[in-house]
Amino acid sequence: MIEAALRLHGTPACTGLARGPLHILDSDPTQGGAPMSAPSRPDSAQPHDTNRESQSLRRALTEASAGLVELRGATSANDARSIVEFQLAMLDDEVLSAPAFALIEHGVQAVAAWRIAMNAHLEDYATGGEYFRARAADVRDLRDRVLRGLSGVALANVPSGSIVVADDLPPSRFLEIPWVGGGIALFEGSATSHVAMLARARGIPMIVDVARAHLGSPGDALLDAENGVLIVSPDAESVARFERRQRARATARARDRTYLEAPAFTSTGERVLVQLNVAERGELDSIEPEHCDGIGLVRTEFTLRTLTALRDEQRQYARYAEIVRWAKGRPVTFRTLDAGADKPIAGYTLEAETNAYLGVRGVRLSLLHPDILATQLRALARAAALGPVKIMVPMVTQPFELEAVRVSLDTSVRALRDAGIACGNPQLGMMVEVPAAALTLDLFDADFFSIGSNDLIPFLTASRRDRDRLPTLTDPLQPAVLRIVAAIVAQARSRDVEVSLCGDMASEGRYLPAILHAGVRTISVAPAALAGVKATLARLRASAGG
Ligand code: PEP
Ligand code: MG
Repeated sequence: MIEAALRLHGTPACTGLARGPLHILDSDPTQGGAPMSAPSRPDSAQPHDTNRESQSLRRALTEASAGLVELRGATSANDARSIVEFQLAMLDDEVLSAPAFALIEHGVQAVAAWRIAMNAHLEDYATGGEYFRARAADVRDLRDRVLRGLSGVALANVPSGSIVVADDLPPSRFLEIPWVGGGIALFEGSATSHVAMLARARGIPMIVDVARAHLGSPGDALLDAENGVLIVSPDAESVARFERRQRARATARARDRTYLEAPAFTSTGERVLVQLNVAERGELDSIEPEHCDGIGLVRTEFTLRTLTALRDEQRQYARYAEIVRWAKGRPVTFRTLDAGADKPIAGYTLEAETNAYLGVRGVRLSLLHPDILATQLRALARAAALGPVKIMVPMVTQPFELEAVRVSLDTSVRALRDAGIACGNPQLGMMVEVPAAALTLDLFDADFFSIGSNDLIPFLTASRRDRDRLPTLTDPLQPAVLRIVAAIVAQARSRDVEVSLCGDMASEGRYLPAILHAGVRTISVAPAALAGVKATLARLRASAGG
């Protein structure tokens, strides 16, 4: 009997097309056991032994830690390694395990005690919005690692090339899968989660928020992460159509790559600088520095994910230096920490914010932690001895915020010089992503501006960045957005201050004509979008006869 194809719709988190066998990942290996919120009764067949149960839990915790340490050792990418470090820090925290040990004291067996305690944590995360949902995957993974240790159930291997389907996928699980081809479809998850970030960095097609359905027996599947569709048990005609699209996509990408070497221009011959947005050096592995005009945004919060890393000047310097050396004399713009919202750092960001995107994040948080800010500025000033480094401050709203960072930077540079430590004197600029700043640019003592449309658009239209339910409000082509971008550029130009645009809208060809029309001449794009953006600019110029 031929099974009818099943089409499930979701939201693209990393564009692309993948075909492969469906692999459904179970999470909790002991599922179906104890209830979520009430302690289970001790197993009447075996008398409860508090010591034995506590020891089992302690052993499983140690094994889970050892597994994560091994994973950290086998992981080369900085962003991925720091996520594992973040999980290790959580596992070390006795606050996480104390409720489970307390339940054991009350006669609950170790497996049930751990599951109840962790599920109670997870319930808090599930109702806490995007910020908590991003962390929930890490907590769920810790729950399952320890449960596997307690129950002796091993992790199933995921064959490479599979379309992995799961409720959510913890970053550490993602890192254990041999990603050669394949893709990801999650019933939960979000496009801004850590795992989505990892998928984008590696170009693994991924969709999230997929409509739930019973998938029956696993077979072949097509993942269309361009349109956000998972097709299970596709018929021969769908497969043939899909393969044609895959071939066309590969051909188009190869054609785009032929535009990489040449510099970009507008149709009237003005130079357009195309820079890159990155989180870490590893994302630049497949790119030649000669193909871009430098790095327009390094999101440092993606590589500094623990309090230890935030306090470690030498470690930060080493990571920054790798990128500056890669750029071979081209400018590199590092952004000071934009932690908060969907980018939490345990012990640094606030936990209890209801709308963290609008709350204490970016420079607001940096000013609450002057020592951590100074450590980062020192590391950046030292990296500036190796090449042209610029420092950019996120979420600036009022002039005093930038002034405070400038004072801290000047102090750091003076102290380094007094101590005879090699350093440069980086330019200090700001993201323009808060409308209040956009309207008062003349009041800011900035060496450069960069427009952060990812935040500016939702702030401008009172909509949400982490939900796609009101597409007309988040449309980059609406008049309010184009007018404010043009006004920012005009303001900056009138004062002869450099201005660029580093929001995601610059990575999409369909927005480029409007961006150029608004006067922008420097853009910063995702590495995977570089060839497509340069190809689009060249085609726009050719079609205008330029
Ligand atoms: C932006 O807001 O446009 C931006 C580039 O920064 P992020 O996406 O990191 O908030
Ligand atoms: Mg932003």
